[in-house]
Amino acid sequence: MNRKLRVLKLWLLKLRFMLLRFWTPGIRRKTLRIGAVILGVCIIGGSSFSFIQNRPAFLLADGQQLALVAGKSQVNKALEMAREELTAELGAVILGTSSELSWRSKGKSTVQPLKDEELVSILKERLAWVTNTWAIQIDEEPVLSLASEGEAQEVLESLQTFYFPQDSTQLKIEKSEFQEEVKIVLVQGLTQQLKTKNEAIEILTKGREKKAEHLVKKGESLWTIARDHDLTVAELREMNSSLKGTYLQPGDLLSLKKIEPLVTVVSTATFTVEEKVPYKIVYESDASLWHGQERVKEAGTNGVRKVTYRITLANDLELGRQIVAKKTLRESKPQVVRQGAKMIVASRGGGGNGALSWPARGKITCAYGTKRGKGIHTGIDIDGNRGDPVFAAGKGTVISAGWKGSYGNCVDIDHGQGLSTRYAHLNEIDVSAGQNVSAQSVVGKVGSTGHSTGSHLHFEVRVNGQYTNPLRYLD
Ligand SMILES: [Zn+2]
Repeated sequence: MNRKLRVLKLWLLKLRFMLLRFWTPGIRRKTLRIGAVILGVCIIGGSSFSFIQNRPAFLLADGQQLALVAGKSQVNKALEMAREELTAELGAVILGTSSELSWRSKGKSTVQPLKDEELVSILKERLAWVTNTWAIQIDEEPVLSLASEGEAQEVLESLQTFYFPQDSTQLKIEKSEFQEEVKIVLVQGLTQQLKTKNEAIEILTKGREKKAEHLVKKGESLWTIARDHDLTVAELREMNSSLKGTYLQPGDLLSLKKIEPLVTVVSTATFTVEEKVPYKIVYESDASLWHGQERVKEAGTNGVRKVTYRITLANDLELGRQIVAKKTLRESKPQVVRQGAKMIVASRGGGGNGALSWPARGKITCAYGTKRGKGIHTGIDIDGNRGDPVFAAGKGTVISAGWKGSYGNCVDIDHGQGLSTRYAHLNEIDVSAGQNVSAQSVVGKVGSTGHSTGSHLHFEVRVNGQYTNPLRYLD
């Protein structure tokens, strides 16, 4: 059973049989009922402080000393006042307190009894007050309580529009329903458990944290796992502080925290927003720039349009979108970009001294010369996870950096003396044509672009443009 529900039931039980206990100083423990005085007929039968004289004593609530009081009539009066004030302040009917009151002799203490209003504010603050609350119940489980039915209703209504853009105008809800069974029910609870409307909305939309685990499978990386679970790599690392390196082993267990809202509200609404219209990019060829290099000739500017949408959302997940009306407020202006056309010619020579360093960490999954359909494999495939760094195998000049058909994102580096290397299927390119690179500097990230069946680096070594076995050059 839900913890809150259990606590609530416990309190109700306690309340039903509650006796406010007072101790006779030092000797016998006596119980008596003062319920009716404070709580009215609904809770406890009539009683009075028959075992405390109307003289100063320390008042205790649930064993905790509260104050030195003047006597029972002051306490009874203050309890009633506190109840009335709380009822007015919270806008909820306060039924009484479930705190156990007791008293202890003042002994030789010379402390003066509290003034009535001071006692009232202490009682208001320190006692557990029982009230009628309006609980929002989701699939039979009460999740939070508000002071009035009206407030609970307003909370549920505000969820209907909660996920639509805050800066929209003319928002009109056409249809809205909860996927769960959502009810407002009257239950008794403690005033301390009451939530404000804003707190209630936050609880319902932010939801509770759920713990989950992920078993690492072959081929997965932090990056793919993060992406699959809608997290960033940094967030994933934070949830797994024991994780040191980048490399995961199949069978590793990662912990994931998932936060799910308590309710799913499916709403269809029309609304109007002003939005930018991104500028287009127009390319011009420029023979004075290297192939792969780009320069902006004229900066583009975004346009603005006013659009009325009809959108269906399940919380923040968009289920459907229609444009009802649109009007251009400002046209966009295209960006003109000059694209390099100059090519670098690879050097010619004897193929260097035969020393290159490994461009990626990983095992070779396909060797040079392996039969591949009609042809042979012109390089080696080095296993890697998407996003792993790819290093220049030696010092050199980037001949080209960009898309190259089935090679995908591809970088070619000329190392001089006729020796060049190629890095293919990159997820990301970090160098540009014409750039000088040092050995082992990062030229890009492992990926699976172009004709590729999974994340790996395809690495080629050429001498005077002819393929050669890269292993001849790698230590
Ligand atoms: Zn390959």
